Amino acid sequence: MKRTDIIVPITVAQYSELSQTEKTLVDAARAASTSAYAPYSRFSVGAAILLSDGNIVSGSNQENAAYPSGLCAERTAAFYAHSRYHEAKFETIAIAARDTSGAETPAPIAPCGACRQSLLEYETLAGHPVKVILYGADEIFILPSVQSLLPVAFTDFQ
Ligand SMILES: [Zn+2]
Repeated sequence: MKRTDIIVPITVAQYSELSQTEKTLVDAARAASTSAYAPYSRFSVGAAILLSDGNIVSGSNQENAAYPSGLCAERTAAFYAHSRYHEAKFETIAIAARDTSGAETPAPIAPCGACRQSLLEYETLAGHPVKVILYGADEIFILPSVQSLLPVAFTDFQ
């Protein structure tokens, strides 16, 4: 028997420290959060994905009175991105959110487990790590890959 530790490297940054490409993607996620349909949770999330062809696809959470019928921002963006630009690879995803008052969350917002699972498959399809930028108004977390958000993941590709 042996023990294995999994270390998740997180770069903590301020908006001003991001590259122009990262700022553009984060801004797209922040803008997408304003189009959320979140009458039940009142928690508005936006996600934006930079693709290998340069396109940026964004999405927001879309809720429903039948709660499980709604969808998170991350999967809204990911499913549309692969539907619309199926030959492009995911490069980076940024996620941002607004609280019930409409203000941007001070802390970084992270994807739920189901979104991590979905995003991991697109990372596998890409064949390279997909950088993850979790935006918060006070600080931003940058992770090197979706896998770092979902270690010891279930996958059909291994
Ligand atoms: Zn989710």
